[in-house]
Amino acid sequence: KRLGVNEIREAYLSFFESKGHLRLPSFSLVPKNDPSILLINAGMTPMKAYFRGDEKPPRTRVTTCQKCIRTPDIERVGLTSRHGTFFEMLGNFSFGDYFKAEVIPWAWEFLTKVLEIPKDILYVTIYEKDDEAYDIWTKKVGIDPTHVFKMSKADNFWEHGTGPCGPDSEIFVDRGPQYGKETPQQGIQQDIGDRYVEIWNLVFTQFEHQADGTYAPLKQRNIDTGAGLERVATILQGVDNLFEVDTVRAVLDKVCEIAGKKYGENERDDISIRVITDHIRSTTMMIADGITPSNEGRGYVLRRLLRRASRCGRLLNIKRLFLTDLADVVIKCSGSAYPELIEHRDFIMATIEAEEKRFDQTVAQGLDLLQQTMNEVKKNKQQILPGDVVFKLHDTYGFPVDLTAEIAHENKLDIDRAGFDRAMQVQKERAREARRAKSDSSWIKSDLAKELKEMPASIYTCYEKT
Ligand code: ATP
Ligand code: MG
Ligand code: MG
Ligand code: MG
Repeated sequence: KRLGVNEIREAYLSFFESKGHLRLPSFSLVPKNDPSILLINAGMTPMKAYFRGDEKPPRTRVTTCQKCIRTPDIERVGLTSRHGTFFEMLGNFSFGDYFKAEVIPWAWEFLTKVLEIPKDILYVTIYEKDDEAYDIWTKKVGIDPTHVFKMSKADNFWEHGTGPCGPDSEIFVDRGPQYGKETPQQGIQQDIGDRYVEIWNLVFTQFEHQADGTYAPLKQRNIDTGAGLERVATILQGVDNLFEVDTVRAVLDKVCEIAGKKYGENERDDISIRVITDHIRSTTMMIADGITPSNEGRGYVLRRLLRRASRCGRLLNIKRLFLTDLADVVIKCSGSAYPELIEHRDFIMATIEAEEKRFDQTVAQGLDLLQQTMNEVKKNKQQILPGDVVFKLHDTYGFPVDLTAEIAHENKLDIDRAGFDRAMQVQKERAREARRAKSDSSWIKSDLAKELKEMPASIYTCYEKT
């Protein structure tokens, strides 16, 4: 059935309301009382206390459409058809209420009856020891057993350290031969290519992973599911990737309009166009939740994303400030689902504009420094750009070493890479010292370091990628 993003969201939430769920609005992207994550990355994360039984939920059945940010996926954004740093996750949750026998048939009913996705293109994976899930899928639901794959613990057992955990079952759609060879088993197992796309994950938290490494049955068994709204829309709308579904496409079209580019003509440009489209969505949403650019924590993630978008704009030859024009489209398309966008409109615009200007100046200064240094080197009849300048360009102006090398080569110069590496090493040690000194602040304890490591080394990554 061809449905818009806003219609699919509504269909999902009202379907689960009809199954006794309480509909709650999306939680903020900023986690509350949870130093273990920097940004909300799944529908269940803001509700951990309900899952653990530490807090009483407003109802034992809840459904939401949650704003999510996943910076670890950033390297894939624009290159795969299915990853954004921002996306909306549809979810239905049971806090000690229903379990596998209800949720699996409901998921099937929603996909095949409400959305009318043909059964023969749906595949599922389950944890190999989960006979209960296997029987529900094959007997109660009646799915073709050749469409069920039993997977190892690494694939289909959801756990994070100690605490509630359990097997899961993922639902995939086969998008057809134009996206690759017909090898469901491999396509799913290795998560390769864009033919078999995971749309929905059903998690059955039924165990407590104890400190001694054993698993004890939980007295409160939970259900946590997550379905990527843009991915579902990609399937229903028959488009190539999640940047082409209606609400996102409007942003993408605006990027093309500003750049004077036609989408689909040049793959290099298309990647930049998709990256900008994604990053303006994540940043607009982050600012609406009160995050502002800074040099640490969430603010640093925001800064990086905005600067990366700006940098990709340069690659498209956009010669003016353009990010607020895009934020405007994001607000228009998603404001009805997320009223905070409309409420904080002025703040969003002012924040983006200031950061874009600041970055513009930084880049201009970096290019100046590079030009000056190259002039001096040439004047002295030398051929090597000093390592400390290469490092300064990297550290202060965000120029990756490869970009500097490339510009140097264009000017028949080389860079002192060993000198750059030494400067990097010194800085790393200094940072380690600083971290040790500051180790009591909460963001250090979080996944921040890991998350930032997974951010591209520089704002110029899309330059390197393309
Ligand atoms: P994948 O294996 O495709 O990266 P995942 O297993 O990491 O997905 P889950 O953590 O199970 O994803 O999240 C639940 C659902 O959210 C997925 O089934 C998918 O539909 C959607 N989803 C996950 N990551 C992204 C993303 N980066 N962009 C868009 N949708 C996503
Ligand atoms: Mg993933
Ligand atoms: Mg997966
Ligand atoms: Mg998954």
